Amino acid sequence: MAPERWLFWHRRDLRLTDNLGLALAADHTPAVTGVYVLDPTLLDADDQAPARLWFLRDSLAELQESWRMAGSRLLLLQGDPAELLPRLATALAAGTVAWNREVEPLSRARDRRVAAALGAVGVRVQADWDQLLVAPEALRTGAGEPYRVYGPFLRNWRSQLERKAPLGAATTGGLAPVAAPSGLLDLALDAIPAERRPQGGALPLLAALPATLTETLTAARAFAGAELCPCRPGEAAALAQLVAFTDASGPLAKGKGIPLLAYEPGRNLPGDAGTSALSAALAFGTISPRQCWAAAQVARAQARGTEDLHSITVWEQELGWREFYQQALFHFPALAEGPFRPQWRHFPWQNTPAWLESWSEGLTGMPIVDAAMRQLNRSGWMHNRCRMIVASFLVKDLICDWRLGERLFMTRLVDGDLAANNGGWQWTASSGMDPRPLRIFNPATQAGRFDPEARYIRHWLPELAHVSNADLISGSIAPLERRGYPEPLVDHRRQQALFKELYAGLPRG
Ligand SMILES: Cc1cc2nc3c(=O)[nH]c(=O)nc-3n(C[C@H](O)[C@H](O)[C@H](O)COP(=O)(O)OP(=O)(O)OC[C@H]3O[C@@H](n4cnc5c(N)ncnc54)[C@H](O)[C@@H]3O)c2cc1C
Repeated sequence: MAPERWLFWHRRDLRLTDNLGLALAADHTPAVTGVYVLDPTLLDADDQAPARLWFLRDSLAELQESWRMAGSRLLLLQGDPAELLPRLATALAAGTVAWNREVEPLSRARDRRVAAALGAVGVRVQADWDQLLVAPEALRTGAGEPYRVYGPFLRNWRSQLERKAPLGAATTGGLAPVAAPSGLLDLALDAIPAERRPQGGALPLLAALPATLTETLTAARAFAGAELCPCRPGEAAALAQLVAFTDASGPLAKGKGIPLLAYEPGRNLPGDAGTSALSAALAFGTISPRQCWAAAQVARAQARGTEDLHSITVWEQELGWREFYQQALFHFPALAEGPFRPQWRHFPWQNTPAWLESWSEGLTGMPIVDAAMRQLNRSGWMHNRCRMIVASFLVKDLICDWRLGERLFMTRLVDGDLAANNGGWQWTASSGMDPRPLRIFNPATQAGRFDPEARYIRHWLPELAHVSNADLISGSIAPLERRGYPEPLVDHRRQQALFKELYAGLPRG
């Protein structure tokens, strides 16, 4: 008797290695077929970014090939998953559809619809966590509440990880990445009645992905920044990036040491490539957090002292921030709608359209802000330190509602992710879970500390290459030296005072 067929539905886990849902499917049966549904409500969403479509297209093209190598295939469908997956499962006589769970409110609602539709035609659903090191339900305060503060969350999260496998142990315990499945059984198309075959026109099955997505990437939305983007699509490239960042044999490490061991303080210097640039890979799941965690544990063995170990710990904590924001969105879905702190709903934002436009195009007259926005616009990615600087500038200096910035980021970021983006903006705006009431960045102070030789500024604002470091940092550039670069839109001190005054007028609580 032929083994039962399962479908594995890829969503934000575009890889075969260490894909827990897929591994579970392959444990049950070798007859696993992959499926990805190009859902127009997501692809054509107003906040969809050309950079993300590029990353998705190239990652899916590679994934199709990986499925072939594993012995089976990845089917591509276009439409509503709640309509298509039951039809596909029925056509292929698949008894179970497996997938990995997600935290976003819309994805969870979609998954409930899909599960109900599958149940209605007698198909089982197998869904569990994969994109998080610790499941959100397992992270509760002593009082049984979800965490609102990062510090205590981090302590609990770390101790759960250390219980699963001691620090430094990468390949043992519950955190060891699992291998990609191999020797899968492909569909025996001949055995399926002609009218039910996916190719028979019964399903909107796509023969090849790139052509279809290329249509979606119309001229107006095409992404021109692929060469400059530090995030590379596909599972193989993500793994290569992880190795380069964490491994003594990685190409970046040769002669210079392992980049991860210099993460602190290098991670804060936007002029250096001191971070992993794995954010898009983690957002699309071309790499798993367990692979990242395991690589960090291997690097522990290479550490020469407490500074190296500290760097590794700080990077692990960044993975912790990722999980903090995901569990926050899981437990408090209203975060996606607006401020976590209710009094911020009453803030009298000025939202000056011309200022928002200047900010988004990197024309505010404040070099560190403009350099960062040009990095985003040209490469689809921005350094974390600069994300904080430009976000603070939009909210606290230009007095624009943070949701406008959050949205603009989503329309441009290759790694755009609701949980991380919303968390980052609410943190900067002071409207979120961060217990510190009012944090205001001085962009010139930030530039002086983190880009003291103005290397980052000059790189992204080459028209200012002739200006002195001090003037690039402060933004006080003489008119003759500006050569078309704009005057500062605002005076930081004045805006800071105004912001504080408006904040003081908010209801307390
Ligand atoms: C206003 C604002 C918006 C942001 N929007 C996004 C977004 O849409 N998508 C996104 O992935 N990150 C976002 N971040 C977080 C952070 O800036 C990026 O994750 C980081 O710059 C990615 O670079 P990296 O991969 O080199 O990170 P590394 O420093 O190498 O860190 C490793 C991984 O940890 C995670 N991580 C690191 N810092 C954070 C953080 N503060 N919050 C959440 N996860 C983190 C990322 O997955 C990252 O790839 C935002 C931050 C701010 C302040």
